Amino acid sequence: MKSMSIEIKTLTPIWTGGVKGNCDILHETGIIGSMRWWYEAIVRGLGGYACDPVEQGCIFDKGKYDDAKNEGKTEHEALHTAGLCDVCQVFGATGWKRRFSLRIIHDITISAWKGKEMLNVCPPTRSHGWFLPAGRVGSFTLKIHGDSDVIARLVSLLLFIEEWGAIGAKPQLGYGFFKINNRDEIQEIREDAMDLSKIIYTKIDSLGLPDLRQFTFFRYRFKPSRNDWWTRVKGLQRLLGDPKAASKLSQLVKMEIIPVSPVLKNQWRYVEWPASSPAKRWIFGTIDQEKRRGKISISWAYREKNMWVVRGWAWLPEEERTKIGTIIQHRQGVGVVENILKDELVWKKALNLDNNSRTDLYVERLTNIDQIIKFLRG
Ligand SMILES: [Zn+2]
Repeated sequence: MKSMSIEIKTLTPIWTGGVKGNCDILHETGIIGSMRWWYEAIVRGLGGYACDPVEQGCIFDKGKYDDAKNEGKTEHEALHTAGLCDVCQVFGATGWKRRFSLRIIHDITISAWKGKEMLNVCPPTRSHGWFLPAGRVGSFTLKIHGDSDVIARLVSLLLFIEEWGAIGAKPQLGYGFFKINNRDEIQEIREDAMDLSKIIYTKIDSLGLPDLRQFTFFRYRFKPSRNDWWTRVKGLQRLLGDPKAASKLSQLVKMEIIPVSPVLKNQWRYVEWPASSPAKRWIFGTIDQEKRRGKISISWAYREKNMWVVRGWAWLPEEERTKIGTIIQHRQGVGVVENILKDELVWKKALNLDNNSRTDLYVERLTNIDQIIKFLRG
């Protein structure tokens, strides 16, 4: 057994849920849940099988496991024979304990603003807009305890999430983007591209479940010509007129995090793609129905040296399976979103940046295993 400490600093507020819709302290379960989600997407992206823990999780069969071990199979193969997918082997399943423990220590996070009220970001022409809860900002340490190979996998996973994803809940609204402070220290024990030899390839239909082969990652960096660029962003500008909202916003500005996720989503969803369509509803979800969560996650703007950064990902499968089992093609809709994300002018417009601002945009759609391996290696 080994222990590993991963020191995390939030780049945007983190949200791990809690009682009565507040997030007073950080909860390990919210972090583990998001780690599992990413691990599933990676395993599927590499051609492996990851069960859907919500619909039909794996069940461990002790007898089959013992038989497989007696036949001389490796631990990994024996666990597969006993009914565990690559993800459940690490994260646990019915009859099989999670292979690691994770605790939050040295939690020195604080609420992103005082009070429990939400911040309502409402771009012009929207009647309700988006409601942002405070979340927590600051730093904390994840103390992970487990076998060395499990720790190596989790370290690779967290390094990947640090660069491209987010932890905790509500990434669609920009929560959970972070930086690892002791990167150099933990990088030494990461595994190479999740150690592919350990994934058993299976041809099981995973339609409707997150798979990196259907992900587009994006990162927009900009150096505005004005320091108070955010006061010109429509939707944030409005907040300045309301003392309560303005106070919340000014607390965020001091920390150099600006909640632009609603503004960009509004631009993509209503300005750049005005027509309503099933594909659009499917990709963006609906504001009022939490159940239909959008597939696009985007951070708030945060500072990285002398630039501001906004980044995120879009999970854009081209096929949707309906409740009655029919398949709907969304290739065209996916193409529309791709083009919007790739258009630097759209970003500039949404953030209302002037021509003197320096910007660069990176967008990459992953479609096959080779690309994913390259991507995981960085
Ligand atoms: Zn499983």
